[in-house]
Amino acid sequence: MLVNPGDELQEKCAVFGAFGSSNEAARLTYYGLWALQHRGQESSGIASSDGQEIYDHNDFGLVATVYHEEDIKKLKGNIAIGHNRYSTSGGRDECYNQPYIRKSRLFAFAHNGNLPSTEKLEKFLIEKNVAIEDLNDSGMMAAAISHHIKQGYTLENAIKKSYPLFEGIFSAVAMDKNKLVAFRDEFGVRPLSIAKFDKGYVVSSETCAFETIGAEFVREVNPGELVVIDKNGITSHQVVKGNQKLDIFEFVYFARPDSKIMGRSVNKVRENFGKILAMEYPVHADIVVPVPDSSVPAALGYSRQSGLPFEMALVKNRYINRTFIRPTAELRARDVALKLNPIIQALQNKRVILIDDSIVRGTTMKQVVKMLRGVGVSEVHLMISSPPVMFPDFYGINTPNQKDLIASRMSVEEIRKYLDADSLGFLSFEGMVKATGIDADNFCTSCFTGEYPAPIGKRSKTIRYINGRPSARKSSAKKLSENKVLV
Ligand code: AMP
Repeated sequence: MLVNPGDELQEKCAVFGAFGSSNEAARLTYYGLWALQHRGQESSGIASSDGQEIYDHNDFGLVATVYHEEDIKKLKGNIAIGHNRYSTSGGRDECYNQPYIRKSRLFAFAHNGNLPSTEKLEKFLIEKNVAIEDLNDSGMMAAAISHHIKQGYTLENAIKKSYPLFEGIFSAVAMDKNKLVAFRDEFGVRPLSIAKFDKGYVVSSETCAFETIGAEFVREVNPGELVVIDKNGITSHQVVKGNQKLDIFEFVYFARPDSKIMGRSVNKVRENFGKILAMEYPVHADIVVPVPDSSVPAALGYSRQSGLPFEMALVKNRYINRTFIRPTAELRARDVALKLNPIIQALQNKRVILIDDSIVRGTTMKQVVKMLRGVGVSEVHLMISSPPVMFPDFYGINTPNQKDLIASRMSVEEIRKYLDADSLGFLSFEGMVKATGIDADNFCTSCFTGEYPAPIGKRSKTIRYINGRPSARKSSAKKLSENKVLV
């Protein structure tokens, strides 16, 4: 049993699905997974069907290395689903690669999200004599669906029957030999969208994949909705009442800037983060420098709002991955040094506003400030385009335990000193929400506020609240203004 409090088997993943008239669904899915590589780099897999069999291929590594032409050719048929996986420590085992296909090979299933509590699911499966020893949360979801299919339910009805057992977050795709199904939990914490392609449809974690393959966006799968895509087109089933709580961290860091979520361009929202940051923290400086790549739009926003020149003065080595989840602080620090290099001429004797999208453990900023000081920067002002991350994520993004989140144990002024910065400003909670143009009630903001919309089960015992209650919007905003360090 792998899923219990303290285990870090959380996954930030990508799913993609295709239903069409041609034999090319797997190839389409392959291109979709390329566009979604940023959501998972541990392993990749595709399942397909031609109406006769379910075929599959998966392996560890990037999409570029997992599939060869002969693999794609073997993935026959007009239906396919795919998955990119990114797990934390301890989760590197072939049996967790997705899509899941149970022994009976009746269907395939792929999941983005996380079930923080699997109690109900475990109890159900144990009662039905299903072995769960080698199953993580996604594997157990597949096992429950499989149980209901064996009882004679169609794929969509088997998923509907299983919904009450799924306590947590899922934006998922499934297929049998005739149809593609896409479904989301009641909160829609992870994104999932539908597009038209040729005579069929594709579904994807993010809309950036639609542009890659030339598909036309139709709409998002609604929270609590299940859609069936087959030869008759799309049928919608509202399985449970939806209560939209998209994870705002998708806008902050996770999603690709060329994606749209809830009708908003991720790039534009990030630029707005930077603009509002510049209004909240005006600083006298010479240049605005992003920590590439994720903070580039926010740095552009800061530069445009402040009138200070934007300078790409840090170069990212694109061939280094996984620095965030390395097991020791030393390894993570060395990886940051390998990943980022300063352009000395652009930085020497300059007062620099350094922008990053978030501070989690503080590793990146600590290293980058040291690097900038080392090349003769005269002042370093850190501007972060999100509020302090004080709580872990239990819904499918990879964050460390709360004790390792620097903002959960230090004030802003303490963090500034630790990072050796001249000043430090975090975007306010209100500023972050305002930048999206969407009402705060539509978001899961758990990593900033400790307010978890879906139950987190036993994991709630591992959470420490500031002032004995969810640190919530007000207290985090107060903490910020009290500690604002400006020049
Ligand atoms: P840290 O170095 O631990 O403070 O993490 C912050 C840096 O990691 C920032 O540069 C972010 O862009 C990046 N980051 C934030 N969240 C994640 C995540 N879940 N996975 C990988 N990188 C992340």
